[in-house]
Amino acid sequence: MTKEKISSRTKDIMKKDAERIIQTYTRQPIALNRGEGALVWDVDGKEYIDCVAGIAVNNLGHSHPAVVKAICEQASNLMHVSNLYYIEKQTLLAEELSKLTGMDRLFFCNSGTEAVEAALKLARKVTGRKGLIAATGSFHGRTMGALSTTYKEQYRAPYEPLIGGVTFVQYNDAEALKKAITKDTAAFIVEPIQGEGGVNVPDDEYLPEVREICDMNDILLIFDEVQTGFGRTGEWFGKDHTGVKPDIMTMAKSIAGGFPMGAMAAIESAASRFERGDHAATFGGNPLACAAALASIGVIKGEKLVERSREMGAYFMERLGGAFDPSELVEVRGKGLMIGVELKTDGNAYVEKMRGKGVLINCIGASILRFVPPLVITREQIDRVISLLG
Ligand SMILES: *Cc1c(COP(=O)(O)O)cnc(C)c1O
Repeated sequence: MTKEKISSRTKDIMKKDAERIIQTYTRQPIALNRGEGALVWDVDGKEYIDCVAGIAVNNLGHSHPAVVKAICEQASNLMHVSNLYYIEKQTLLAEELSKLTGMDRLFFCNSGTEAVEAALKLARKVTGRKGLIAATGSFHGRTMGALSTTYKEQYRAPYEPLIGGVTFVQYNDAEALKKAITKDTAAFIVEPIQGEGGVNVPDDEYLPEVREICDMNDILLIFDEVQTGFGRTGEWFGKDHTGVKPDIMTMAKSIAGGFPMGAMAAIESAASRFERGDHAATFGGNPLACAAALASIGVIKGEKLVERSREMGAYFMERLGGAFDPSELVEVRGKGLMIGVELKTDGNAYVEKMRGKGVLINCIGASILRFVPPLVITREQIDRVISLLG
């Protein structure tokens, strides 16, 4: 493979990063500074088709004009006030999300991990129990509580002791959940489709069975929809593929069209157990984030992006199935535009090769390519990605 040329501007950015940024990220050797739709450009003006979308964040495409307008207007009016006061847009967004999720009440924060923290705290408050069950392959975030329920040993080990009482059960195995429940179990937290774990789609019966087991044992069911939300999987939420309603639900990533925000939603009987003073976030539900989220939801509806995700996802998956040599392909899986391609060979070699050709993709672990492009990606762009993979 020919060695990629790195411009002096990019080299300079990389050098400053190496000197002054705490080195927790493995980065690709490009610096992006502009985006539109499913395209992004680096500082040297090179164009890429973005099949990463900020890791399933930019569902509307980059810098969607409706979201930009909402942010600019809100920013010039009021950015932040504090939850010491009523915030009109927060109430409007809560109303909207309640309709979309079927949940009764919302709590707003700024990221996925914070939404999970809120959910875990609420589960303990509601039940008066400590135990939490999570699934193998799970990813729920990096702060101490959420991290405790994240499966990867390598992420957790250096920070122990984490919060106690967490057990892991095999994903997609309802029997395993049943066996793991004890008198002290408060909740089971699970992703309707696992993202960081490698785009794992459970069997159709799994979530309905999980719901039944949680009901029978009187424990709460938490769906972590941080990655699966807002049309990503071809439904508004991952849960909508099965019709199973959780007690608590977390959202973030694409909630505000690229603007940072997180939310926890809950059914009334759980939500009402959080009392004044029980939880808070200074920036949670600030006017700016709420304006971005309201505009973003408007675009998803107006441009029918949920349907589009379903259609383009089916097309992309079919084409991906034919794009690899059968001898190196394990399988193509996913729903909507949340797609994983498991290879028998080195996935990172593809990431590098495709970047050179102007396509951004992500590799989970050693061999699972993840395709989570903006939902506005066109058929022509998908065709181009496929032709470049060959
Ligand atoms: C990304 C992710 C998180 C963590 O979100 P952050 O905003 O990075 O804290 C939690 N749960 C799931 C399912 C995710 O995909």
